[in-house]
Amino acid sequence: MNDLQNIPAVDSLLKTGTAQNLSALYGRELLLQALRGTLENLRAAVQSGKDISIPNTEKILADTERTLQHWLEPTLKPVINATGIILHTNLGRAPLSAETLQAMQAAAAAYSNLEFDLAAGKRGKRSVHAEELLQRLTGAESALVVNNNAAAVMLVLSALARGKRVIIAHSQLVEIGGGFRVPDVMRQSGAKLVAVGTTNRVHTADYERALQEESAALVLTAHHSNFKIIGFTTEPELSEIAAVTHSAGLPLVNDLGSGALLDTAVFGLKHEPTVQEALAAGADVICFSGDKLLGGPQAGIIIGRADLLDKIKRHPLARAVRADKLCLAGISATLIHYLKGEATAKVPVWKMISIDSAAIRQRAESWRQNLNYGEVIAGKSMVGGGSLPEESLPTWLLALPVKKANQFLSKLRSLPQPIIARIEDEQVVFDPRTVFPAQDPLVIQSLRKLLP
Ligand SMILES: *Cc1c(COP(=O)(O)O)cnc(C)c1O
Repeated sequence: MNDLQNIPAVDSLLKTGTAQNLSALYGRELLLQALRGTLENLRAAVQSGKDISIPNTEKILADTERTLQHWLEPTLKPVINATGIILHTNLGRAPLSAETLQAMQAAAAAYSNLEFDLAAGKRGKRSVHAEELLQRLTGAESALVVNNNAAAVMLVLSALARGKRVIIAHSQLVEIGGGFRVPDVMRQSGAKLVAVGTTNRVHTADYERALQEESAALVLTAHHSNFKIIGFTTEPELSEIAAVTHSAGLPLVNDLGSGALLDTAVFGLKHEPTVQEALAAGADVICFSGDKLLGGPQAGIIIGRADLLDKIKRHPLARAVRADKLCLAGISATLIHYLKGEATAKVPVWKMISIDSAAIRQRAESWRQNLNYGEVIAGKSMVGGGSLPEESLPTWLLALPVKKANQFLSKLRSLPQPIIARIEDEQVVFDPRTVFPAQDPLVIQSLRKLLP
């Protein structure tokens, strides 16, 4: 039987060279915490009557170091996205361009004129930073960047419709995922929802009737996002809704969701309504995400009429959901790619959308040759991010006919740099479209280790 007294004391362990090294690496306090934990477990095992041998000093310290490594391992780490879903919300949505990263690094590493007017030498406004670029790009009178699009919608409704009625189509009372439900957001902002039309059919006359009967603050239209109504359906054009809304003297607010600045139809996809089109159709305020089809950092962008934007900027919630300096630097750098007409060459999301399918096939083929395993098959990539549901881009996949596909996926996830793949027809498939070419060697090296 082991005796508790055979367990070494903390003090004597700390005097060893190994412990000194660990202390230098991890700090004395954290080492102490981990060491006490190791010894506590040991004592508990002995007391439980298990016939265990007391490990030597080196073993105790090795266990302790494993604990320390585990504690300090980042919970948020890079993964390789081989799913072919370009805007994968679970995988962090849009990866950023090199210029965007540079701008964010510069803003992060030093002081900046975030809220300082350099010409006047006094306090300035952070809201100026991306505003001019957004005006130039879209033609909107005014703009504001906030934390994300959910916050943007909440802020707009709070500022323009608190305690008042908001008219919206039944067909647009959607949940876009992650707990964002249009009716809930409205309730939270203090606006009263007036739903018009039916789930599948909404007519201009439905809006007209509601505008006559209800004294409303505004009309809201929301992108259906990741859901599609098919069959016997109708919804008026945005310009028609704008016309009846304006006739009643009210503003039209459009939650555009993804907020494309380029035409997706050019790349063989269905046409996703663009920000510019929404403005041209007569929307007075438009909200969209920064990290969906725009391809920038997480943000919510609000553009539109100056008088309405002024109200929005002055609302107390604007301070609570404001964008930080990294976001403003990143959004600005991303917007500049569009202004310079280089978005498809520089913004990773658009590079992935516009990549030539022959190039994808070549990479899938080269993966297969390097592994000497599997086959290259035709498949589909998705845009994701709540935009273009059911729309896909033709792609080429490396398909591996491994025996236990689910188990293989889990092994891929536990790699030091996890690879996220998917199963199709019982094979594990990898889509090069969403894997950066620089990651190819790592993908091949990792797969080689896991394959028979
Ligand atoms: C994605 C989306 C949102 C939420 O945007 P976040 O940037 O994720 O907060 C709101 N409305 C619509 C229609 C969306 O598609």
